[in-house]
Amino acid sequence: MSAPTQSQLFSPNSRPTQQEFDVIVIGSGIGGLVTATQLAAKKAKVLVLESYTIPGGSAGYFDREGYRFDVGASMIFGFGQRGTTNLLTRALKAVNVTLETIPDPVQLHYHLPSGLELEVPQAYDKYLQELTDRFPHEREGIHKFYGECWKVFNCLNRMELLSLEEPGYLVRVFFQNPLACLGLVKYLPQNTGDIARRYIKDPTLLKFIDMECYYWSVVPADLTPMINAGMVFSDRHYGGINYPKGGVGQIAQKLVEGLEKCGGKIQYKAKAKKIITENGRAVGVELATGEVYRAHRIVSNATRWDTFEKLLPAEEMPASEKKWQQRYQKAPSFLSLHLGVEAGVIPAGTACHHILLENWDKMEAPEGTVLVSIPTVLDPDLAPAGYHIVHAFTSSWMEEWEGLSQQEYEDKKEEAAGRIIERLEKIFPGLDAGLDYMEVGTARSHRRFLGREDGTYGPIPRLKLMGLLGMPFNRTSMPGLYCVGDSTFPGQGLNAVAFSGFACAHRIAVDLGF
Ligand SMILES: Cc1cc2nc3c(=O)[nH]c(=O)nc-3n(C[C@H](O)[C@H](O)[C@H](O)COP(=O)(O)OP(=O)(O)OC[C@H]3O[C@@H](n4cnc5c(N)ncnc54)[C@H](O)[C@@H]3O)c2cc1C
Repeated sequence: MSAPTQSQLFSPNSRPTQQEFDVIVIGSGIGGLVTATQLAAKKAKVLVLESYTIPGGSAGYFDREGYRFDVGASMIFGFGQRGTTNLLTRALKAVNVTLETIPDPVQLHYHLPSGLELEVPQAYDKYLQELTDRFPHEREGIHKFYGECWKVFNCLNRMELLSLEEPGYLVRVFFQNPLACLGLVKYLPQNTGDIARRYIKDPTLLKFIDMECYYWSVVPADLTPMINAGMVFSDRHYGGINYPKGGVGQIAQKLVEGLEKCGGKIQYKAKAKKIITENGRAVGVELATGEVYRAHRIVSNATRWDTFEKLLPAEEMPASEKKWQQRYQKAPSFLSLHLGVEAGVIPAGTACHHILLENWDKMEAPEGTVLVSIPTVLDPDLAPAGYHIVHAFTSSWMEEWEGLSQQEYEDKKEEAAGRIIERLEKIFPGLDAGLDYMEVGTARSHRRFLGREDGTYGPIPRLKLMGLLGMPFNRTSMPGLYCVGDSTFPGQGLNAVAFSGFACAHRIAVDLGF
């Protein structure tokens, strides 16, 4: 008997059998889960394969000695109640689940060189006042620059955010909001630094704008797309920053609950070893255990490096991916300190999120900028009574952590943690003495537990590009294979990967006729 042809196996109208699915999603990061839930809500038969024991990836959690630590993300956008950019609220609602969130009155407290101390409150007017108090000669420039950010946001926040690869949607959205669409087209190829310099001259204020970008894009304003800056710098005052009660891990847990309610499945400890191709088309996934699952469409929530160099043979990398790698490189990973500290170390009224930098020239250097989140100021239940969680993290490259013996690795982690704690003592005196628990994660931990090549935070431009125009959408040059998550438009951050998930699911739903 001859082998079945591709069309016999998967004719578009055939319903999948037991080990066959409409869609397989490799990875349960927020991008993967939003894709899966959106499709399951449309009655597609969906399987999510996750290598770890819980969902969430960089938005996961771990429990230690009464503390519940967020693996990575803690400053959460996308939980607003208005507009169209509240994608986490929408993703949960689509599968009939809800999550209590705690509004954060202050997005961020900056501790910057030369004593530049500044808080970013949720109230926009108050923020502009804070900034103009420090740079009174730049009052007009400040208003104009952030005003442009609002223009971007107002365009985005008027339209349903779906796949820009779907012509029918583009036509519909254009006729519904022609001005908003034209506005976005104007900003799409622009970077934030160019717009900032148009209005602002003070070199310190321009460095501050660099930091406003760096803490989430990990590149300065010149390399940060204006579309992303417009979202971040406006939504923090519109939808606000809202922390999920019970920890960030709850978002993924709730999405999985919704996925299963809609008939979708998730399998943990299911490490995809390779994407199976037939006649140049992605048709299935083989796990490290040898199990094989097949589907009409395969979605990879792994990074593009992991997708095109590990799940597919690196030597067969499509030309479009090679080109993409010439434009984008891997951002560094992080050195992460997960601390449990006595409550007295964190005075009442301390903001949840902080940024510390002592020398502007070190902003992008390894261990330069230190980011700090203290989620227990919003949700005390994440730590035992009388204690707080402090998550401090800073850029760190894989090269620093390889080729070490176990003892050298442990010693190096302790030394690095000591340096960070010493610096944090300036903001939180008594931190060292008040330490109750400490766990240090490196690029190696990020690679091991998140399955991300070199533990990278995601793609960053190698050089100045035309805004977001170089970021790939969800379809790939391999038929049947899609990518979702922070290696796709519009990049890193939970709300951004949720956008990527909505877009990916939309494109697949159209392709499969759901
Ligand atoms: C330290 C840190 C702090 C951050 N802070 C914030 C913040 O405050 N706010 C914010 O919005 N964002 C923040 N981010 C960024 C944000 O967390 C990420 O951009 C986002 O979570 C990435 O989601 P993703 O869908 O791309 O996938 P990931 O989170 O990378 O998840 C991918 C999943 O796929 C699984 N996987 C990978 N390969 C395989 C395979 N072969 N087989 C099976 N499963 C596989 C992984 O185990 C993982 O669960 C932070 C990130 C870090 C690391």
